[in-house]
Amino acid sequence: MGGVSKRTTATEPRCEGASVDLSRRLLSQALEQTADIVLITDNKGVIQYVNPAFEQSTGYPSNEVVGARPALLRSGFHDKGFYNQLWSTIASGQVFRGVVVNQRKDGSHYHEEKTITPLFGQSGEITHYVSTGKDVTDRVRVQQQLHELAYFDALTELPNWRHLQQLLAQAVQLAKRRNNTLAVLFLDLNQFKRVNDALGHAAGDRLLREVGRRLSATLREEDTVGRSGGDEFVVLIHQPKKMEDLAHVAEKLLKQLTRPYVLNGQEHRIGISIGISVYPQDQQTPGDLLKAADMAMYRAKTDGESNYRFFSSDMEAEVVDRIKLEQCLRQGVGRNELTNFYQPQYDLRSGRLTGTEALVRWRHPVHGMISPGRFIPIAEETGDIIAIGNWVLTEACQQIAEWTARGLPIKRMSVNLSPRQLAHPEIVAQVRRLIDEHPILAGNLVLELTESSLMQHPDQAALTLASLKDLGVKLSVDDFGTGYSSLSYLRRFPLDCVKIDRCFVKDMESDKAATALVEGIVRLAHSLNMSVVAEGVENEVQLKMLSQMDCEGAQGYLLGKPMPPEELHSHSMQEAAGSSCTSIGCWGSNQV
Ligand code: C2E
Ligand code: CA
Ligand code: CA
Repeated sequence: MGGVSKRTTATEPRCEGASVDLSRRLLSQALEQTADIVLITDNKGVIQYVNPAFEQSTGYPSNEVVGARPALLRSGFHDKGFYNQLWSTIASGQVFRGVVVNQRKDGSHYHEEKTITPLFGQSGEITHYVSTGKDVTDRVRVQQQLHELAYFDALTELPNWRHLQQLLAQAVQLAKRRNNTLAVLFLDLNQFKRVNDALGHAAGDRLLREVGRRLSATLREEDTVGRSGGDEFVVLIHQPKKMEDLAHVAEKLLKQLTRPYVLNGQEHRIGISIGISVYPQDQQTPGDLLKAADMAMYRAKTDGESNYRFFSSDMEAEVVDRIKLEQCLRQGVGRNELTNFYQPQYDLRSGRLTGTEALVRWRHPVHGMISPGRFIPIAEETGDIIAIGNWVLTEACQQIAEWTARGLPIKRMSVNLSPRQLAHPEIVAQVRRLIDEHPILAGNLVLELTESSLMQHPDQAALTLASLKDLGVKLSVDDFGTGYSSLSYLRRFPLDCVKIDRCFVKDMESDKAATALVEGIVRLAHSLNMSVVAEGVENEVQLKMLSQMDCEGAQGYLLGKPMPPEELHSHSMQEAAGSSCTSIGCWGSNQV
């Protein structure tokens, strides 16, 4: 802030008589009338003179400061070292230049751009110091605002990406110097885009602000939090002692951030994914630490709603794979590399094959068959799911129309609808078009929705489902039991069927609680006029138990794996001929 320049030699004006008087008068008028703040002290620093501009800027009348020291203007903004340097500069005969923050009489601060010049007597000794300055408070304020704009996110008022990078670089340097640890947490809101799309940008902004507020409120004062862009935040935890401490912080953050947010008068929940990297064990440079935390965040995201994950070195390879997969997928869709498999669904009461679920497959020319479990979540995130979902739906409609034309008994076609598809404004029109264009009965088309896609925007989902119902299609809730909703909550949606997730079916043999749960779901679903399909039936014991519970539908490897359409065709022909022994037709009639 301060600066010095070379000693200036005083020159005594060589004026005499009337001209001396004139120049003195002029000088004193200049001092009195100049807009610059002028203060003159003797060589001991005692104020001898202040001009009206000084009085105006500081609020001190001349008589209150003459005889005092300039220290009365000290604001506390500068440290002792600053003043020591200032005084040693001028005491050595040099000029001081710099911006000094001073305090007015009323306690407020002002920035003065100051020059202090020593005055020399005949024999070269310092006799006075003359300080001239300008009040640059407004200019400094504008500069500060510009700085804030450049370094702080206007929405959340947290450090922005640029600033975060600097803070991280400093933190890494400090940790290196002091042999400390440092943790970088990368936070991402799951499906924030949907909040923005559904509730509008103003609500999205409010949500981000509230996330920022909760983050700051949950963290310690000494931790750093910033918004790195969009719906991403970065937290720096200085000197974490143990991994458990970080896990504890991550859990605390998840807990606070997943509490409901009131937006447009309604409660909404969002999911959060957190990735954590630690200096020095994971990575050593700021860029690598961020990248590692980002990778861990991705892992957290693919592992489900609201998770945190620590970075591990195997993630690197996975991220590279994922990026490649993303690019390939887009090309694959264009190159017709997708294909639908169909898994038979049986009616446990009649023992007949009555329906099928379309399950998409990706035949990659090099990597072979890629399972939807790998590429659907990516497509959901990138938005490619819209194109993929449309393709699957159209293909499934064509298939069921073809089977019907060929006299196959498979009537019902279930198709998975992803959360993004459900939220898409064109979904109802698209389903309507498909029904119109294919010779199929709307009631034979079943759309499978997951609980989480219903729960994200319940009101919007309810409206869309009502319109889909009006078309005559059936609606089913998939993977039931894995979300957190209760069946009675799901009553607000016009659902026809519940698919019990295979994890409960799997546990039924060994776990009485799972059996009771499945039985409870079946009973409750029936009382709500919904039918039930059990997924993942792999053995006869499960099949029998389900049958005894009066569960009407079953699907699983025991009854048939997902298979290409022609295979399902022959499977159903064998069925009809009574020669398929894995089928429920054979099993059902003998044992139920
Ligand atoms: P999902 O809808 O729950 O589909 C059932 C999954 O369970 C299928 O896996 C199926 O192969 C598998 N499965 C069926 N019976 C059994 C069994 O007895 N035991 C075991 N262990 N597994 C069984 P798949 O085909 O890999 O699909 C995985 C998930 O990918 C599906 O789960 C669904 O969520 C998603 N998916 C598949 N196709 C589509 C699609 O066209 N659109 C959308 N949005 N998602 C799809
Ligand atoms: Ca399904
Ligand atoms: Ca399922």
